[in-house]
Amino acid sequence: MNIKFFNCGFNYSQDGPGNRLVYHLQGCNLRCPWCANPEGIAVDGTIMTDKNTDGKYCKNNAFENDKLNRELCKKCDKPCTSVPASGIRLSCKIQSTDEITDYILSCKPMFFDGGGVTFTGGEPTMQFDALKELLEKLKALNIGTAIESNGTHQSLPILFPLIDYLIIDCKHYDSVKHEKVCGPTLDRTVENIKSASLARKQLLVRVPLIGGFNSSEEDAEGFAALFSEICSDTCRFEFLRYHEFGKDKYEKCGMVYTMGKDAFVAPETVKEFEEIFRKHSLKTIHT
Ligand code: SF4
Repeated sequence: MNIKFFNCGFNYSQDGPGNRLVYHLQGCNLRCPWCANPEGIAVDGTIMTDKNTDGKYCKNNAFENDKLNRELCKKCDKPCTSVPASGIRLSCKIQSTDEITDYILSCKPMFFDGGGVTFTGGEPTMQFDALKELLEKLKALNIGTAIESNGTHQSLPILFPLIDYLIIDCKHYDSVKHEKVCGPTLDRTVENIKSASLARKQLLVRVPLIGGFNSSEEDAEGFAALFSEICSDTCRFEFLRYHEFGKDKYEKCGMVYTMGKDAFVAPETVKEFEEIFRKHSLKTIHT
């Protein structure tokens, strides 16, 4: 089977233990407005343009007043996305699970300090069957595996035996607020965190702290109450402060960035959350 991904590179201990090769898989079912990877949201990839793209390589009249009509690109029979000089590219690369496995195997000497491979996104479970096939191949080769997921896929527990380290991002403790801003309700994510806890998986639950959405003291108590109820002592928690690292990519993707400066939270907010979690005997970490 084939896998669609938009980025691949090494990092150390941010997305699982040790030195890791991190694949960002294409496609996401959530619509969090602070997303740092807007090019990863569409399942089949996003057309991205450089700032000074003038459309001279386009034979399809897709540029109107220097603006690209991406609907015409979708039907294009001579896409310029493979011409580097065009300044237009498709975010998505496609490789078979065999090709990816071979590449990962060639990187094995780099997986020091308990490292391995992490699949993130987008949302990696959007390509569930291909991801499962890939994880099976990697397990057979004794390569450490991790996934970072929003936890919304109903069959996520099927992947548990194939994953050494699981990261689930949880944006809110209140399902109505979660659904209003991010899309799906929280129910399935809660069920999957419960299942991972029962299976005693190594689980890191990450909470992005967003001003005006989930970062008040009341919110900290709300998260702590939820996780106290559903998590086991194998769970760890991490708070990530809102950032704008993906902001520039929105224009390149023909999308509008809607977050304002009030979304930033102070470093002290993280400390307050950690203190409240400590009172509930929930263990926090920094990666
Ligand atoms: S992909 Fe096709 S329609 Fe889109 S800009 Fe390139 S040549 Fe034009």
